[in-house]
Amino acid sequence: MYKLRARHSITFLSFFLIISSRGQESWIDTSPHSGLSELRTDFSFKTLVSNNSVKSITGTLKRLNEAKQYFDEIFNTDLDFAVLFVENEKWGKHAYFPPPGLPQAIHGNVILGLDKSVLSITVEETIDRLPEQHQAMLKPVYGDDINLDLFYRDILSIHELAHLYHFKEGTKPQRKWLQELFATMSMYSFVKEKSKNAYNLMNTYPEFVLNSGNRMAEHKTLKDFEEKYVQNLSPQNYEWFQMQFYQHARSIIDSGDRHILERLHNFLINTDLDRTARLSDEELSLRLKKEVSTSVSDILDTWMYR
Ligand SMILES: [Zn+2]
Repeated sequence: MYKLRARHSITFLSFFLIISSRGQESWIDTSPHSGLSELRTDFSFKTLVSNNSVKSITGTLKRLNEAKQYFDEIFNTDLDFAVLFVENEKWGKHAYFPPPGLPQAIHGNVILGLDKSVLSITVEETIDRLPEQHQAMLKPVYGDDINLDLFYRDILSIHELAHLYHFKEGTKPQRKWLQELFATMSMYSFVKEKSKNAYNLMNTYPEFVLNSGNRMAEHKTLKDFEEKYVQNLSPQNYEWFQMQFYQHARSIIDSGDRHILERLHNFLINTDLDRTARLSDEELSLRLKKEVSTSVSDILDTWMYR
């Protein structure tokens, strides 16, 4: 009887192991993968490409793998995800939303461009028309031709990867600005600590945008950002917000609070709207102060536009 019961428990246990390992696999949405070919790499995550002109992706992949190791250690996990490299022409078929070539991460997939991103093309054209002195800070970092995908693809892919670490546990954060701050703080911390030779690639373009002021931003309040987000802000206005978050992320990480990323990660998960009610700004500020840091609640309390 006892033996029989033991055997039953083992069967029961293995049933759950199978279920839970299936559960882990199902986190990655494989529907965008169809029609892509798998690239053999030394890394634990799956890499898929939409064509074979893959010579420019080696450095990007290597840095993503280093970022994965860094984030896995901080967030105490071994995140499973897939990286897709998709050319602009096939973007609509494999990516979740436009614009072609701009990194995005959702449902366990990091989707990156194989061609120059449409955003880089547009911004590079604008920069090309500026007087030479405005280009002077960009050329030593992004090359004489100013290749902005060194920022938009190679650096932002790390920001996107960081999003997967909270999306895995909950996809409805209390505020969009908080999830963007988290991804940018994670990216900044990784590059600063583990990929120092990419620091200027990460920092120079934001400096350039911040120096150019507020004239591209029609909407400037955090409420605007929540309500309009990517869909209803112009690309320049959305970027203006992201650069403000970058500035805050940089000063928070530079201040040297070693466990702030874990605390913010836990906060995003514990207060996810799937399991908690929406907090008012006052409640959010109090809880951020208590559970994360005043450096984060200060962003909400002292945002310069109301
Ligand atoms: Zn983001």
